Amino acid sequence: MVTTSWSAHLPNKMKYFAIVASFVCVLSAPVLAEDLSRFVDGELAGLVGTYKGIHAHPELSHHEAMTAALLATELRKAGFTVTEHVGKYQDGTQAYGVVAILENGPGPRLLIRTDMDALPIVEETGVSYASHAVSKNPAGQEVGVMHACGHDVHVTTMIGTARALANSRAKWHGTVMLIGQPSEETLDGAKAMLADHLYERFGTPNLAIALHDTNALAAGTVGITSGPALAGVTSVDVTLRGIGGHGAQPQNGKDPVVMAGEFIVQVQTVVSRQENPRDPSVVTIGDIHGGTKRNVIPNEVKLELTTRAFSDKAMQIILDGIRHAAQGVALSAGVPEDRQPIVTIIDNESGPATYNNPALAARVKAALINSLGAQNVFDEDPIMASEDFGLFGLDGHRIPTVMFWLGAMDPVKLTAAQAAGKSLPGPHTSLFEPVPEPTLRTGVTAMTGVAIALLRR
Ligand SMILES: [Zn+2]
Ligand SMILES: [Zn+2]
Repeated sequence: MVTTSWSAHLPNKMKYFAIVASFVCVLSAPVLAEDLSRFVDGELAGLVGTYKGIHAHPELSHHEAMTAALLATELRKAGFTVTEHVGKYQDGTQAYGVVAILENGPGPRLLIRTDMDALPIVEETGVSYASHAVSKNPAGQEVGVMHACGHDVHVTTMIGTARALANSRAKWHGTVMLIGQPSEETLDGAKAMLADHLYERFGTPNLAIALHDTNALAAGTVGITSGPALAGVTSVDVTLRGIGGHGAQPQNGKDPVVMAGEFIVQVQTVVSRQENPRDPSVVTIGDIHGGTKRNVIPNEVKLELTTRAFSDKAMQIILDGIRHAAQGVALSAGVPEDRQPIVTIIDNESGPATYNNPALAARVKAALINSLGAQNVFDEDPIMASEDFGLFGLDGHRIPTVMFWLGAMDPVKLTAAQAAGKSLPGPHTSLFEPVPEPTLRTGVTAMTGVAIALLRR
């Protein structure tokens, strides 16, 4: 059960903000930042409690029922019009997407997105609010569950941002469209919400923003990239088929294990020899299965690949290269026509690059500097990790999108690690440990500051 204690504080805060709001037109930007930081300070203890509750009760992709319900309840309490169960997966099942709208006169329609799902990882941080949750993965195996990507930070930040925006309506004009997105980790949550006619039902936004926590930056600081920010991902399965037989009589078969060995080496030359070095890409084979016994040549070997690239061109070169390498090893082994390799693109686990519109990124960066101070805002290089947030920008980046990084590490620990040439455990590890209070303070301050800046006339 997740409980919150924030609501007891709300009436005073609302009163406070109503008074502040009446002076808004004569206040300068630094004074606005001061008001915001005072408001966030008042909310912080409650938000930390909410965060710890969500952290202790993580839910896997496609199963975010409790988290979505909590988010919906909090956004409704904050004054938003909330719709739940938005999203349809490819197999026809309903998703736990949340859409919350707050209209405040004419102006831009701003989409702000949080993801909500956790990962099949046994938590080892040792914090008092650590998860002990277990669940079943899609294969039916029992797995530990952990918010190892910090989507609990994102959900809590959205709750704080919603309250701050609802309580400062005199400072901005337009419509805020908050999105609680399920299934980011399986890359089919944004797709499911758009397929359920998100924009037809709730309006097409003019701008879309999101944040993601990071182990590369200290709590209290943020980072931003202009242009390509996170790589696109295409998941690929390759089945190399041979002809099985006795391990002592290889001349009677076609050995797919040898083919797999050649394929693995061959496919590494796609990035190093076929791609433009100035257009980065990655091919990783993370999973390989073949054979049952040392003296039996198996019929086939299965490989699971993840590929990353920023441009469509680089991604196409990778996919062509994988097909050619698979066909090439089969050809040189003399595999018959009806046993050619099978190369399958897994649509549900693929997504586009996250592209930070440069003009919007400049506005977001200016707002971050205004809210947090220039010394706490860093320019970051693009990374090869992937996200499905970019889908909210629609094909051809029709809607400008920006995702910025939220520092989540204990500053003392991060400095010590960096001095030793190391990094602190990052997302998708059992030891990933955002430090709640300063991370949430900065997240709410940053996101609210950015939203108000983008919605001011
Ligand atoms: Zn993740
Ligand atoms: Zn994530």
